[in-house]
Amino acid sequence: MRPLVATIDLAAIRHNYAVAKRCAPGRQAFAVVKANAYGHGLGEVVAALSEQADGFAVACLEEAVAVRALHAEARILLLEGCFEAAEYQLAAQLGLDLVLQGEQQVADFLAAKLSRPLNIWLKLDSGMHRLGFSELGLRTWHARLHEAAAVAELNLLSHFACADERGHEMTEQQLEAFLGVLDLDFTQRSLANSAAILTIPAAHMDWLRPGIMLYGATPFAELGAAELGLEPAMTLTAQLIACREVAVGESVGYGAGWLAQRPSRIGTVSCGYADGYPRHAPSGTPLLVRGQRVALAGRVSMDMLTVDLTDLPAARVGDEVQLWGAQLPVDEVARAAGTIGYELLSKVTQRVPRRYRNA
Ligand SMILES: *Cc1c(COP(=O)(O)O)cnc(C)c1O
Repeated sequence: MRPLVATIDLAAIRHNYAVAKRCAPGRQAFAVVKANAYGHGLGEVVAALSEQADGFAVACLEEAVAVRALHAEARILLLEGCFEAAEYQLAAQLGLDLVLQGEQQVADFLAAKLSRPLNIWLKLDSGMHRLGFSELGLRTWHARLHEAAAVAELNLLSHFACADERGHEMTEQQLEAFLGVLDLDFTQRSLANSAAILTIPAAHMDWLRPGIMLYGATPFAELGAAELGLEPAMTLTAQLIACREVAVGESVGYGAGWLAQRPSRIGTVSCGYADGYPRHAPSGTPLLVRGQRVALAGRVSMDMLTVDLTDLPAARVGDEVQLWGAQLPVDEVARAAGTIGYELLSKVTQRVPRRYRNA
């Protein structure tokens, strides 16, 4: 069997959900489980949180169907709403909480003959300019939807563009835009992603939307997950499958891009970019062998990568290699590779078996 596995600590995810709730006592929280629960496995994560979570949030109807199959009662928020008119019937059958973020969506929603009224989350474009209505549009549609028989709760939602950069002026402006429509009658309000849950109490409102923090990674560049009290949920573990000596001036890997500056020992690891390890990670990106840090050496291949073991003479074929996880924060690997933990976690491919720990 290929020695590569993503071990998922479900107890850590429960712990991290509890951290989110503790940040905002008395509020409720949709556990964001889009994109296969950020790569951790939708079914297992929903099952692990099924007693604890107030609801779940997903990116599309296909994901909502999967959550509903696991949980008959949970509130399930469709973050981008429906993508076509034909989806509203199924959304109603599933009893989803539905975002309405644009004119076409409202028109299709109102034209659909639904089997039951739905909880609607009108989305305000508070400044990110990706989805949602301007203040004027929101006021217009609020008036229209407030009376509509197809609407159960009429709720308000928006999303921050820069909450991960503490003290960013845009966050204050977005919060003000949100507060500026609260004279309207909404049943529930939701604004906070992980970054805002952790650092902006004024944005907590009624429903939180924690995503990345559930998985034990940080939304912030300058504040680590451990400092935030979060526990890493995914540990990606491979093995050393080969070792060799490389003389000064010899190269390693595709493009012959890494050159030995000293007599070197090179280890080959059973993980590559087809597993989701970032191909653009430069030489020097950290990995753990026998619990010790070693540096990526040369280009990442599809199924393998190479590390410099020169300073770890005890390393042997068969040793465990941690790509990221419990002892090496995914955020640190992400930073070295010029990306964010979100991308590394959600891009671990199907080829990598997930193994679950529940206590
Ligand atoms: C993905 C998403 C979230 C979760 O964001 P994190 O930064 O992962 O906490 C919250 N709200 C919306 C609208 C999202 O799309």
